[in-house]
Amino acid sequence: METQGQHVEQFAYKAEMQQLLHLIIHSLYTHPEVFLRELISNSSDALNKVRFRSLTDTPLVSAEAELSVRITTDKDNSKLIIEDSGCGMSREELIENLGTVAKSGTLEFLQKVREGKQSTEGDLIGQFGVGFYSVFMVTDEVIVETRSADPDEKAWKWTSGGEGTYTIEPSDKETRGTSITFVLREEHKEFAEDYRIQSIVKKYSNYVDFPIYVNDEKVNSVTALWHKKSADITEEELEEFYKFVTNDFDKPLGHIQLSLEGAVEFKALLFIPSVAPAQMFRDMEERSANLYANKVLIQQHCKDLLPEYLRFVRGVVDTPDLPLNVSREVTQNSPVMAKIRSVITGKVLGLLEDWAQNDTEKYNTFYKNFGMMLLLGINNDYANRERLIKLLRFSTSLTENDTRISLADYVGRMKTDQKEIYYISGDNRAQLLGSPNIEYFVKNSLEVLLLTDPVEVFTAPYIGEYEGKRLIAADKAELPNENDTTDENKAENETSLLGMFKEILGDKVEDVRLSKRLVSSAVALVAGKQGLDPHMEKMMKMMDKDFAPTKKALEINPDHPLIHNLTTLAEKDKDNVLVKDAVQQLYDAALLLDGGLTNPTDFINRMTNFMAKATSV
Ligand code: ADP
Repeated sequence: METQGQHVEQFAYKAEMQQLLHLIIHSLYTHPEVFLRELISNSSDALNKVRFRSLTDTPLVSAEAELSVRITTDKDNSKLIIEDSGCGMSREELIENLGTVAKSGTLEFLQKVREGKQSTEGDLIGQFGVGFYSVFMVTDEVIVETRSADPDEKAWKWTSGGEGTYTIEPSDKETRGTSITFVLREEHKEFAEDYRIQSIVKKYSNYVDFPIYVNDEKVNSVTALWHKKSADITEEELEEFYKFVTNDFDKPLGHIQLSLEGAVEFKALLFIPSVAPAQMFRDMEERSANLYANKVLIQQHCKDLLPEYLRFVRGVVDTPDLPLNVSREVTQNSPVMAKIRSVITGKVLGLLEDWAQNDTEKYNTFYKNFGMMLLLGINNDYANRERLIKLLRFSTSLTENDTRISLADYVGRMKTDQKEIYYISGDNRAQLLGSPNIEYFVKNSLEVLLLTDPVEVFTAPYIGEYEGKRLIAADKAELPNENDTTDENKAENETSLLGMFKEILGDKVEDVRLSKRLVSSAVALVAGKQGLDPHMEKMMKMMDKDFAPTKKALEINPDHPLIHNLTTLAEKDKDNVLVKDAVQQLYDAALLLDGGLTNPTDFINRMTNFMAKATSV
């Protein structure tokens, strides 16, 4: 296509991009105003990039231009222009940045949201700045004119109606940076109102580092809130700042303000969110607090500011002890950063300890959202291991549904002769409470920690011990008096009973033994003497489908009526088919409960036969 002698090239969006745009435009947002936050945030990133470049000797286009964002409203024509003096984009960058989805997984995530499988939309906007394209919520066509800061590059004009295609042609823009121009759709005309734009800027972008002008009037505060004394900061400012840093719509659960002088100097304003992000583990990889040097942002989401398990903490850290053009490699290995990290970690744990002690409700809210992160810390932060263990909370066989207790609480109410801390792991509380393996514990009011979150299941065994009390799996634990001797007559009966089971089950089990732990169930599988901790075994199976489990021992409840009946039947006729089938059935049922029954066909057939016999008249 040729227009006025200039070459206009047309491009099609990648398929994924088209779907993404469709989602954004038609179903995603109920807060269309966030388009402005997204555009300003892109401008702010672009301005930061030029600020960096200006620290080096690289030549810059418009070297003298003020670093700012300028918004012009044209009410009569429902038009909006957002212009920055940032780094701009070359032709290649335009194609790369505005023609493809940057983050892998974005589309899948957004689709899930649309299908209602994710939490509220408010969270979504916060966590997934889909950025630039959100502008298509309010307009049908966008024009981006941009000139790179690099003097070797030309200026370009990018135009798109959102769905399908975009065009690129040369532009006569002379100054460095990017301007974004569009006419608002009828139903979004309000965004061409001066006052409306001002209030949106104040709401979402008040703390952007660069001045934002709306029709030549500066509207944001450009103050570094963390440099103010904490007494001078209002609740509103804190909340606003938190929302700015996180894109969250909720209030934070708490905050920490620090000002340190001495060997390392820094100020910090950090927040603990009240709700966990929808994709916590992904967030851990990508997000963190922001690093400033003398009020200038030098790294957004600086991973080295916090240990991995505390990356849910958001906010800013500002130190004059790092150079402005510090690189990732430097922050990774810098002793200044190590010091900052250790101080912040200590302060965050201190705040949590304070909540745990003085504000249980708050701590419980925190734990529900982020408790599993503390468990991750146990294996990664040896310096704070003991503190972290004290902060853990567990659901147990004696607690109500939602309540969790500390290991200190557990130890405090241990029975006088109890020497160990028991736990059991499984998919959910109800399943664990019904497990034959804890019948003994329940009957004797011995408390058992119930581990159901995968992180809990995996890490809890590494706690090892608490105040000299070993943590052990209830389904492996040796029970008190387990080796009691019984009278001889009984012993003889029992020997033949065990013999019968052993003969029928053969080498399917490591051993068959009488159980002390079973109260109402007839049999249960427990870890064999050579077996792994049952807990670990479940984990291995979760990670490796081909993992071959070790053999287990079958425990039998000699007081169960079914076991009595089988013994009597077997005494009369050693080869009774019913006895054989019943023993097999008991074993398969135990396997089923233990999660190890791979082929249910025989189990079902046997059960059907039993029922047919029982119901025949
Ligand atoms: P994100 O900002 O999350 O990366 P966007 O879709 O908002 O995603 O933007 C994609 C990319 O386009 C940005 O990463 C940036 O490289 C580029 N970009 C967007 N707006 C600007 C701008 N005003 N100046 C320079 N580059 C920009």
